[in-house]
Amino acid sequence: MFLSLGVRFEANVEALNMVETAGNYGKHRRVPYLVEEDGKLKTVYVPAISGESLAHAYQEHLVREALSLNLPVCDDCRKGEFFKSMNRVHLQKKVDPIPDDPKRIEEAIVKSCVVEDVGGFLYAEKPPVRRSSAFQVSYALPVKSTALFATSEPQLHARHAQMDASSKKGNASEQMIYYVETGTALYGFTFNLDLDAIGVSAITAEPILEKEDIKARREAALKSLFRMLSSSQFGAKLSRFFPVGGITELVVTVTEHPFVVTSPIYDDYVEKTRRRLDVLKGFNESTYLATTEDGKVPEEVLKEVIDHLNDGETL
Ligand SMILES: [Zn+2]
Repeated sequence: MFLSLGVRFEANVEALNMVETAGNYGKHRRVPYLVEEDGKLKTVYVPAISGESLAHAYQEHLVREALSLNLPVCDDCRKGEFFKSMNRVHLQKKVDPIPDDPKRIEEAIVKSCVVEDVGGFLYAEKPPVRRSSAFQVSYALPVKSTALFATSEPQLHARHAQMDASSKKGNASEQMIYYVETGTALYGFTFNLDLDAIGVSAITAEPILEKEDIKARREAALKSLFRMLSSSQFGAKLSRFFPVGGITELVVTVTEHPFVVTSPIYDDYVEKTRRRLDVLKGFNESTYLATTEDGKVPEEVLKEVIDHLNDGETL
């Protein structure tokens, strides 16, 4: 089963993805964006949140959900350091001595870490072993029709230090002024999850784990997604720039084989997704769609999807 989500969320004055600091200026990630204005195409630079940043957050939630279900997570991933068995030093913590056979290396990693099972890894030694991530995530970008209104704007902040005359030395400063560039936009992003890839070898396509273990890991993968969206715990600088806003729309599809929702950056994405899905139905493939269209909150939609998967015993 293949799950695909389109998410729209409003975020005002957020600093979810900062890219560099130049002196006392922290810069928000920005990307070039093609928009149409008066029948002409033009490029504008808009605030964005990288897929890498969203993927990191998802895997942090996956650690938590996996541990709460008593599933294995390796020491590096537990710390939120997703090295992913990249070399001998990291792999040796899971399997020692390291086998020569790539299939046995993959098996050892998948068995000992849910994050590397779901999020993939690249062991870059001899022999190299690569496992693609079972989940995919796009950048979060402003919705096209509102892109020209999306802004990033520096906010001035100051830190003060208490000093008496005796402690003043040379050019020690009593206050520090700094700028944080904040973004404001209606964002959209896509998240896909290939449930069939979890617990299954990327080399042989054979299951590595028992059915029950695979089921538990799929559940953890779905719950992490639920938690990430429901808690808005993704991106950086949440402690002082927690975005003001929230999820405005959500569309989820479940298909037997890979199918990706129309990107939520387009205003007609729900309708387009529905029409594309109807074509798929014509191929005798079972399809499922849930949206926030009828006034449902995102959590209700996600719960509906999890229940649907449980009913069909596809989890
Ligand atoms: Zn790990």
